[in-house]
Amino acid sequence: MTMQLALTQTDASTLLDKLQAVVRAEFAVDLIHADPTNPVFARGHCRVMNCRRGAWTKLLCNAHYNRWTHERRPDLDEYAMTTGPVVGHTDRVDAFDLRRLPLQLRLEVAYSIQVRHDQRTIRLIPVMINRLVVLVAAAKVASLLDHRLQHWDLIAHEHGLTDTGGRAMGQLRFAWKLVHDLAEGVDAESEFARDTWRASAVSVRPSPKKITSIRFDLIPQPWLRTAVKRACRYRLGAGKAFGSVSIDERALRWFACFLAQQHPEVTGARGITRDILQHYLSWLTLAPQLSANTTNTYLVVLRGFLQTCHRNDWMPGLPPHAALYLDELPPRPRPLPRFIPEFVMSQLEDPDNLALLPDETTRHLLILIQETGLRANDACTLEYNPVIADSAGWPCLKYYNHKMATEQLIPLSQRAADTILEQQQQLRTRWPAGCARLFPSPHSNPDGAQGFSYATFRHRLADWQQLIGLHDETGQSVSARSVPPSMTISSDAWTSAAAACRSTPPAPAPTPSGSSTTWPESRQACPTGTAGAHPNRTAHTPMPA
Ligand SMILES: [Zn+2]
Repeated sequence: MTMQLALTQTDASTLLDKLQAVVRAEFAVDLIHADPTNPVFARGHCRVMNCRRGAWTKLLCNAHYNRWTHERRPDLDEYAMTTGPVVGHTDRVDAFDLRRLPLQLRLEVAYSIQVRHDQRTIRLIPVMINRLVVLVAAAKVASLLDHRLQHWDLIAHEHGLTDTGGRAMGQLRFAWKLVHDLAEGVDAESEFARDTWRASAVSVRPSPKKITSIRFDLIPQPWLRTAVKRACRYRLGAGKAFGSVSIDERALRWFACFLAQQHPEVTGARGITRDILQHYLSWLTLAPQLSANTTNTYLVVLRGFLQTCHRNDWMPGLPPHAALYLDELPPRPRPLPRFIPEFVMSQLEDPDNLALLPDETTRHLLILIQETGLRANDACTLEYNPVIADSAGWPCLKYYNHKMATEQLIPLSQRAADTILEQQQQLRTRWPAGCARLFPSPHSNPDGAQGFSYATFRHRLADWQQLIGLHDETGQSVSARSVPPSMTISSDAWTSAAAACRSTPPAPAPTPSGSSTTWPESRQACPTGTAGAHPNRTAHTPMPA
């Protein structure tokens, strides 16, 4: 079945021209070698002595891994020392073999490999590309675009690839979208017309939590979806982060699903009456899946959405009284500050415990967060040298506060400054000329341009917390939500408190004025080694995912 998107002869030559222009020389070959020492494509050499093949599962090459499982999985270290080399050789080992493909198709697949290489988010395994090649060669097409994506799924299923080649199909879908974008010439305008927006295509401020797309197709009512898309585009244009706008979409999706389930008779903006909105208020407030904070957020978003629609006439027919008022919204819970007791904090700062963290980068990252109260998100993306001296010569940390969308400065304690120096020294052994990030991701990151993953950091801390048996005075274990990755502070508050404590003990710092954001109460703090009290610690529950 050939789809409408199938290219005409003219289109194909245009696409081929485009492919030849974008695919770099090292990828424009029919056998692309993956150097085992290149962390984007491999995990180093196989752990078996003198085996030069690339390592995958258990840090063994595929051949040694298969032999190891065949021998009923003996002790790995002993196996690696005693097993013999792999006999025989094929040039397909550690290589993406595109030789079976015609020129354009070869360039299409090569382009997807090149983009994966540049993005460094997913490590490509040669066997997965080789499976993909078998599939597309069997389909006898000139371009991936000769079939719709759904039809490729069908072909894969016919070839029995659905179960065994899930990752190969993932790469095929990735390649199809890339080639489709290249053929059509994607710009922000065409992306906004779609029901899924990719952050990369609309060129917005990236989300530190790596939210890469927003879907609108889950909003069942086309008239509401159109208005939601306009409102979300408006918010992006106003400089909101992609992640924040994705929360808007989720909030409005809840409203859309409420209408679909509870009021299917509402078929247009005219049906959004005060009665409906009041029903939604009580329905959402009682939704058991949502925390009180989330409920409040979703209602605030809907309130702003209705106001914007009124102002711009984005939903013709919307009744003038279709609005939510501030005094109708359930209050946000305002719990007391949750200080991390010194008893617990001393375990988190114990050098013997810190030594149990998996590597120096994680350790330095944690210490810096403990010392500065920086959000983990912001700390993970720090530049290689984020330290500048203030007018008095005091070392300060310059960082980008993603939540406030602004650069900020905070004074550093001696311990924090020393930690940064140690981290930089450690990085210089791997990147003698320096690298872009102070805390680079350890994987798929040959030039250190990718920051440490927030998710990895959270997982490592949770594991570490279990390992050290973090507990309170009664012996009860302490939850991961109250340890430093979520410990945070208003940076304005921090700056004023830290500046003040050079001469006097710090006072409780103010929350930013005019902000509706629930900020954690300040962690009263003072750089170690200056006058003032030892910091008190306050934990903050992160925003719901
Ligand atoms: Zn091997």
